[in-house]
Amino acid sequence: MSDHERTFVMVKPDAFARGLVGEVVSRLEDRGLKLVGIKVLNMPEERAKEHYAEHEDKPFFDDLIDFITSGPVVPMVWEGQDATRQVRQMIGETDPLEAAPGTIRGDYALDLGRNVVHAADHEDEGANEREIEIHFDEDELIDYDQHDAEWLYE
Ligand code: UDP
Repeated sequence: MSDHERTFVMVKPDAFARGLVGEVVSRLEDRGLKLVGIKVLNMPEERAKEHYAEHEDKPFFDDLIDFITSGPVVPMVWEGQDATRQVRQMIGETDPLEAAPGTIRGDYALDLGRNVVHAADHEDEGANEREIEIHFDEDELIDYDQHDAEWLYE
């Protein structure tokens, strides 16, 4: 059970409006990942800007902030072996046109600006922990035994 880590995932407003919260949660549960934090909220603009700070000079930044603050989102923390890489693989490429069928974006999205879900980037060192800190207080993350862990891990 080495390389266990926490990663940050968020259902975006388009997916919330389309009733896809359960679908996203289900896929991550079915994979064997452990849910340790989840909430629903309208994201404050300042937090959205902090979350997407790396894109602040990009032409799509203002639209991205408008979109992510336009309706409810569902920030989550999931835990598991190589969780960040596992989840990134499950959500697929950023542009749904490039996302393979079978990935969340490849199955539920068509447009780059409405791509259903966010997940911390495994190529961005420390993004998972940084994003968890932006969106969750430590006491919102719960500690419990995953009952099927012995069947998920060697
Ligand atoms: N995005 C966009 N236009 C672009 C590039 C990105 O609207 O040209 C949006 C897209 O929704 C993406 C988000 O900005 O999910 C953040 O971009 P990033 O490159 O970090 O992709 P991600 O990590 O979400 O796959």
